[in-house]
Amino acid sequence: MFLPAISSFLCMAIAIALGWVGPQEPGSAAPVPRVQVVAGTGAIDAESVDRVRAEVEAELPGLLAVFANKPKHTFFVHVHADRESMPAALLAHVHEDAPAFAMLGQHQIHLIRREIERTGADLKAVVRHELVHELLDQYVAPNGREIPRWFHEGLAQCLAGSTYLQASENDLVWRITARRLQPFYELTNSFPREQPALRVAYAQSYSYVSYLIKQAGLANLLAVARATDDFTSFDRALVGRLKRSTLALEDGWRHHVLHGSGAPWRVLLDQCFSLSLIALLPFLVIAVIRRLRRDQAVAGQLAASEAMAAMRAAEAQAQAQAEAQAAAAADAAWLSAAESPSFAADETDIEKEPEPPPSPDVHNPDAR
Ligand SMILES: [Zn+2]
Repeated sequence: MFLPAISSFLCMAIAIALGWVGPQEPGSAAPVPRVQVVAGTGAIDAESVDRVRAEVEAELPGLLAVFANKPKHTFFVHVHADRESMPAALLAHVHEDAPAFAMLGQHQIHLIRREIERTGADLKAVVRHELVHELLDQYVAPNGREIPRWFHEGLAQCLAGSTYLQASENDLVWRITARRLQPFYELTNSFPREQPALRVAYAQSYSYVSYLIKQAGLANLLAVARATDDFTSFDRALVGRLKRSTLALEDGWRHHVLHGSGAPWRVLLDQCFSLSLIALLPFLVIAVIRRLRRDQAVAGQLAASEAMAAMRAAEAQAQAQAEAQAAAAADAAWLSAAESPSFAADETDIEKEPEPPPSPDVHNPDAR
């Protein structure tokens, strides 16, 4: 995404406050723009900056060729740790899910590492997207303010090979059918702030610019951008170059989305997948019910086993108690008998019973 040019004074004040102002050479005769990739705000490590620098150095030459190597102004790429560490003035017009943004006219690109990680954005695509904003702005200078936002974002997404906010032509199908698209003239100066309108705006921009590139070629579209100035709007330059009215171009694009892009089939497949899930729902419910019943049966068996075990334990305990009571009764009876006089007499009689005579074999060897 990009931020429209804001007051130079404000930007310069912010840059000076953060120590971002580096060596600029506005009148440099260098064949390509010098780019400075620097650490921005927050706890940003050198490795993160080096990773961004490597992507910038890898992608810049190819993108410069797209713009006929005309951009020559030095620009800066600031790598910030997170939104919290950034000045509020910088974030005032940046969507909370934006992983990066370019400040047109200020030759600044800002990447936010935490947002790139959080949104799962591809670093290469993010770098290419923001480089396109900067290079296009230089390519059409000094008329950058006249380029519609939808063209900037559409071209950035097309050349980056990736959309922002997971925008997709699939989001456009029913809106085209229901005539609920946002008019492009409402996307000229700014984009909506809220989802899903913002996502649709990115999807429309990507889809329409892709269609125009297929219709007229990238070189012709860039020529239209170069022809745009205070007197000739982008739309008028486009109509003059392509010899088709804006209405005819937009009708052709909508027809392409519905009948030539494959988007309706993708939507249908998505819906088929959803419908197949709905169709499977009764079977899932039956499976769940069977599982619940199976679990209930197992739980019942376990409860019966536990009850049987408890009953057997109770029986064993009762039997043990009965045996203990019987033994106690027997002991009590024995003690009672022992304390009675007749029992004592019997004992006396036993003591007085004569001992048996000794065995002749053992106690009288002389008998042999
Ligand atoms: Zn952008």
